[in-house]
Amino acid sequence: MQNKNRFKRLVKNNCACYLGAKHGISNYCCLQDSPCVFFAQDDGLPRCTYFENGVLPMDEKLDQEYTSERNVKTEFKTAQPRVNCQKCGTAFSAHSNRQKYCEKCRDKNANEKTKLRMRQIRKKQA
Ligand SMILES: [Zn+2]
Repeated sequence: MQNKNRFKRLVKNNCACYLGAKHGISNYCCLQDSPCVFFAQDDGLPRCTYFENGVLPMDEKLDQEYTSERNVKTEFKTAQPRVNCQKCGTAFSAHSNRQKYCEKCRDKNANEKTKLRMRQIRKKQA
């Protein structure tokens, strides 16, 4: 993770939970009551809910990099849009705004399409 220093800088400058040298302590997270995960010695990029929701959005570019690298936006960050299924009317969380049907109906649709396709193939063969 080549950009970890940028995350560290963002935490240092903007995270309300971060306490550093200014406070006579090093890289301390008062939310976790332990050292800030971004200053751990391993190379991986850690997860911190507070950081992702409250600090990262301040740096749009870094936010985008983080999101594309971790692909966390849908599961973790933004609320998924609630959509009513066009077929059965059930409310569900859409993964994209192109999604029109709930999972059940989507499976059903796929099955029906497959069935139709198979029927046509059989017709041709007959
Ligand atoms: Zn449905």
